[in-house]
Order: sequence, then structure tokens, then C-alpha cells
Amino acid sequence: MSKLLSVVVSVYNEEAVLEQFYKVAGEVLNHIDWDYELLFVNDGSRDKSFQILTELAGRDRHVKVVSFSRNFGHEAAMIAGIDHSRGSAIICMDADLQHPPRCIPQILDQLEQGFDVVNMVRTKNESAGWFKNLASSSFYKIINVLSDVKFENNASDFFAVSRRVAEVLKDSYREKVRFLRGYVQNVGFEKTTIAYEAGVRAAGESKYSIRKLFQFSVNTIVCFSNLPLKLGIYAGVMAAFLGVVVMVYTLFTRGGAPSGYATIVILNCFMFAILFLIVGIIGEYMAILFAELKDRPIYIVAETRNLAGQERQDLPDDMT
Ligand code: UDP
Ligand code: MG
Repeated sequence: MSKLLSVVVSVYNEEAVLEQFYKVAGEVLNHIDWDYELLFVNDGSRDKSFQILTELAGRDRHVKVVSFSRNFGHEAAMIAGIDHSRGSAIICMDADLQHPPRCIPQILDQLEQGFDVVNMVRTKNESAGWFKNLASSSFYKIINVLSDVKFENNASDFFAVSRRVAEVLKDSYREKVRFLRGYVQNVGFEKTTIAYEAGVRAAGESKYSIRKLFQFSVNTIVCFSNLPLKLGIYAGVMAAFLGVVVMVYTLFTRGGAPSGYATIVILNCFMFAILFLIVGIIGEYMAILFAELKDRPIYIVAETRNLAGQERQDLPDDMT
């Protein structure tokens, strides 16, 4: 095994932490017995992130930069990083130092032992606040009930994969609406987990709003489970059952027809609520189908640094 490590770092408006990240990560990376590339993916930052990265790439050949034409999201950034990486192992991490670089030697240790996937599981998330933590644990409960594939609780976007897993991700997981963490946990191969404590953000602020997280959760459920689609069938059976009960009741009690206004209104609202909900759920699936059908690129690269000969555009199959 040629020992090149690719560290993929997604960057979106992180001017406040980049220098610090580079320093902290560099201290760790310069002490491992692997060669490494520090591959930053600039996800359409509107601040000075790209200038800072260009400057870093100018003075350090380990630093490589892929820069998007606009913001494509964290997941797209990680995918682009994996696409452009050359290492025999790849570690994905955030730029804000919430994923501590000091864990890298431990990760390499596991990879050297032959594991293909190393999932980093956070034991504590100091900066997220009780609401985000509660939402995150409920999300994992729901998705694990709904989906056939099982998700690690509190898994993060901090993980490492071997070259062969990276190749699988590159070739076979090109979905437009996606949950990379879910794929990483479910490609199979030998995997292991390491616990780590997510620290507070070193500087700058979180780029994920509650709304974004909610949409992300809905997308993930839709991507990994068909169960919500069957809700319509269950609701239909239940409504039919309720209808029969009420019919039998009416037949036996006979009369009393003029009263019951409230019952009718409530039942109507209830039934329509279920109906609209189901239509909405089908809409979510259709939106994802539509996105797949349009087959737009997952990301568009505008510029790169130190990456000559390593470029990879997300082209349709027949063009690559
Ligand atoms: N990020 C990105 N594109 C986005 C949003 C975030 O590349 O559209 C990056 C961001 O720069 C950071 C990582 O994804 O390195 C995680 O984002 P953040 O720290 O804001 O999320 P949180 O840790 O609060 O969940
Ligand atoms: Mg963060």
C-alpha cells in the first residue's frame, strides 16, 4: 500500500478558522508516517476563504484546492473531495475544528489494521444546543425505524474510507439528493467506529439552519425508506374500517340523523388532513425523482489549485 492520506475538508465561508485549521491539522499530519494531501473544497464561499486557500496552496504543496462555481452544499463538497482525492485512505472532516485533527493517528491505526470504513461517533456535542441534539437523536430513531438499512446513532460527517470504498462512492452513489454518511455506513466492508468529543466551533458560525436540517432529514428519509409511501394504504384501510363502524352504529341506533354536525366537521377535517399529508409525502418522493431525472451535476468546479492532472468533473457516464 502506497501510504498517501487524503484529508478532505469542506469550506463554506470559513475565513475565520482556515489558518487555525491549517496549523492544527498540519501539526498532526507532519508527524504521521504517511504522505498526505490536504484537499480543501471551497463550496462557493462569499468571504475570503478562497484567497486564504490559494495563499496556503502557494506556500505548501500538500494543500490542494477545488473551488465550486457556487454553493452546492456540504455533501456535494465531500463528494467532490472524494472524487479528486488520490490517497489510499480518505478522511472527511469539517473546517471548524469540531472534528479534532488529533484523532487522525487513531483513524490511520484502524485503517492500517485493515478496516475499510472508520465512522467517528460523537459522544458529546457541546456547541449544538439541546434542541439540535434532541432533533438529531430523534432523527436517528425515526430513520432506523423506517429504513431497512441501519444508521449509527450520532454518526457525523467525520469519517474515513479506504480507496476501494472511495471508488464505490465515486462510481455508484451519484444520487442528486443524497446522504453521504448513510452510504458510508451501508456500503458494507469491514467497518469500525471511534468515539470522539465534538468540541465547540473554533470561530465563525454554524452554516446549518434548523430549516436546512429539517429539509435534509426529510430528504434522507425519502432516500432511504419507501415506508411513508405506504401510509396511504394504511390510512385507506383505517378510514374504511371507521366507515363500517359508523355505518353499523347508525343502522342499529336508527334516527338521530339531524344531530352530529360537529362529528361530521371533525371527521371531514381529519380525513382531509390525512389525505393532504399523503399527497405531500408523495410530492416529496416526486421532487426527488424529478431531480434524478433532470440529472444536473452534483457540483461544478470553477477553479483548482495544485491539482493539475487530478481534475474530475461530474460528467455523465458516457463522457467520462
Ligand atoms: N459547509 C459547506 N457547505 C455548506 C455548509 C457547510 O461546505 O453549504 C461546511 C462548513 O464549512 C463546515 C462543515 O460543512 O466545514 C460543517 O458545517 P457547520 O460547522 O456549519 O455545521 P455544524 O457543525 O454546525 O453542524
Ligand atoms: Mg461545525
